[in-house]
Amino acid sequence: TLHAGIVGLPNVGKSTLFNAITQAGAEAANYPFCTIDPNVGMVEVPDSRLKKLAEMVHPKKIVSATVEFVDIAGLVRGASKGEGLGNKFLSHIREVDAIVHVVRCFEDENVIHVEGNVNPKRDIETIDLELVLADMESVEKRADRSSKLLKTGDKKTQSEVALLERLKEVFNQGKGARFLTYTDEERAILKGFSLLTLKPVLYVANVSENGLSTAADNPYVQQVMAIAAEEGAEAVVVCAQIEAEIAELEEDEKQGFLQDLGLEESGLDHLIRVAFHLLGLMTFFTAGPIEVKAWTIHQSTKAPQAAGVIHTDFEHGFIRAEVVAYNDFVANNGLNGAKDKGLVRLEGKEYIMRDGDIVHFRFNV
Ligand code: GDP
Repeated sequence: TLHAGIVGLPNVGKSTLFNAITQAGAEAANYPFCTIDPNVGMVEVPDSRLKKLAEMVHPKKIVSATVEFVDIAGLVRGASKGEGLGNKFLSHIREVDAIVHVVRCFEDENVIHVEGNVNPKRDIETIDLELVLADMESVEKRADRSSKLLKTGDKKTQSEVALLERLKEVFNQGKGARFLTYTDEERAILKGFSLLTLKPVLYVANVSENGLSTAADNPYVQQVMAIAAEEGAEAVVVCAQIEAEIAELEEDEKQGFLQDLGLEESGLDHLIRVAFHLLGLMTFFTAGPIEVKAWTIHQSTKAPQAAGVIHTDFEHGFIRAEVVAYNDFVANNGLNGAKDKGLVRLEGKEYIMRDGDIVHFRFNV
């Protein structure tokens, strides 16, 4: 499961968006356990292929891929120095795969802005600065330790010290660790640092209910888009309040509601798709009479590792994968039809999985 942390200044619409997420997740009754932690919400990754497969296979159960969102409230100016909830919630951010940064792009005099007025660029910089300061602190601590070890002349320590220096430099410019490029060796070292500013960011420009259709002309949205483009980050426009309403609707009502708004999909569905793309994720399927299920893997994952996502035994005992492309499966009325046409392939350990593969793994136990 992909984990995303929602951050942003107070009163930008984080809770509203998060409530939409938990509401949508609650509809997907497969995941009762996710309601235990009030700060964690789970949603299904929308994928029309799953429904189509289920229509063909008639499984007992359909299981979507999921994304888990963590509501990381309390990030305010001075958080890295212990303001607000301070460092406590910063540690939550360390555990996520991606950061969803909600930015207020709606005016509403009834909703106070902690900084006095709506200004996405300043707001983004405020949050970024806190994350940079938190990373600066951990890098400085680390640097103290490794420079003491440097006398032993260990090659790895030398690389680490050099890397830490480069990080400090970029932090001093107020920029995050994701603005640097790294060698494979450096990437390996970085893993041990769990830096907040290394995580991919997806900006959510939260507009007002009547601002959705004119979002492209909204100067606040334009600011967010410009920043995202500059950083090579992703950005989506959402109206959190409308998402909260959509999340309460039944599936068929939902389609009509979206049509009335002139939308093809909900902002939340769009956000999930973009997050998938941002993290270089893709989907493969298993399809049998018991269940049809979507699994999440990184692009360019090989067959045994994909099998390992299902169960570690599948990876260790991997023999072969029986693979058919989704389109071939559908066009030939299922597995047997595809087999007759010679479209079901036996793939080995080096096979690189493709999005939409329908797979049956063969393994030794
Ligand atoms: P948080 O502090 O970032 O979690 O912000 P909330 O989600 O609690 O939202 C703060 C206030 O802004 C609430 O009164 C919301 O109803 C309001 N709000 C959130 N999203 C929108 C929106 O899209 N449009 C408008 N007009 N108000 C919103």
